[in-house]
Amino acid sequence: MNPDVRSQMPEVRDGNASGVPTAGFRLPASGCADLHLHTHFSDGTFSPEEIVARGKRSGFAALALTDHDTVEGCERMGIACAEAGIEFIAGAELTAEHSDIELHILGYFLDTQNEKLLTEIARFQLVRQNRIREMVARLNELDVPLEAEKVFALANCRAPGRPHVARALVQARLCSSLDEAFERFLKKNRPAWVPKAKMSALEAIELIHQAGGLAVIAHPGLNRSDEVIPDLVAAGLDGLECFHTKHSTSTSEHYLELADKFNLLVTGGSDCHGMSKGRPLIGTIKLPYTHVEKLKAARNKRATAAAS
Ligand code: AMP
Ligand code: FE
Ligand code: FE
Ligand code: ZN
Repeated sequence: MNPDVRSQMPEVRDGNASGVPTAGFRLPASGCADLHLHTHFSDGTFSPEEIVARGKRSGFAALALTDHDTVEGCERMGIACAEAGIEFIAGAELTAEHSDIELHILGYFLDTQNEKLLTEIARFQLVRQNRIREMVARLNELDVPLEAEKVFALANCRAPGRPHVARALVQARLCSSLDEAFERFLKKNRPAWVPKAKMSALEAIELIHQAGGLAVIAHPGLNRSDEVIPDLVAAGLDGLECFHTKHSTSTSEHYLELADKFNLLVTGGSDCHGMSKGRPLIGTIKLPYTHVEKLKAARNKRATAAAS
């Protein structure tokens, strides 16, 4: 491995820096960040306060909230972080597309009161709500008697998604597990799957920038992102999420190399959704704080350029 790349690798839980498992050994997370977290304001199960308490126990210096298509949880998470002595970065994960490829664009350092941002995300929240009704209608056509109101009551948020439908199916004993719900009904091209109208990735980048933020492609290893990176770089993309729970070491290295090639910032996070994926993922990715410093410098540079 190129030593330059290794120096950027996040610390690995229960392992050493090269990822070799070391029984009983746990590296401290101090000076580290998790920049990809979800709460119950989208499809996570933790409250902002619960996720901050867990972040504190793991020793994180900085946390970012990146709920899907909403910034609603940021105020409470900011307060909880301040009380815990943790630096907070307000963010969101916007569902977008480019050349028919679905991409998740992370926005960091967002002005959560920005009018255009709030208007646009409200539009896509409505798309999500209508999609829930459509998925439920398809389930009903398949003689699965789920009610949309049950899903909305369970989700209790403005940005409901497939995980809420899956949880409602399990709660109503119509499926025995979340996996079964996805496998039988909700995965792409399964009978109750409904495609989601998305904003263009180029619009997402512009939307994030005008709200004072930085735009980063989330988990590029999961979305055939490589072919679209040059177009997004031309549109002002700021970074790549090189470290993610579902990235192998070689995938992370690949995106570190691309970040270097395109002069992009490096981010990383666990994509913790609380208990919905069996165990909480917070603590499994520890991004060295130097990357947060670089993000802040880039954010300040953008702000200075916008002001002049
Ligand atoms: P949506 O935004 O409504 O399309 O839902 C996407 C969410 O569903 C993401 O947060 C994923 O983590 C989750 N998800 C996607 N596929 C699966 C799956 N096969 N099993 C469990 N969760 C999934
Ligand atoms: Fe999610
Ligand atoms: Fe995502
Ligand atoms: Zn996510």
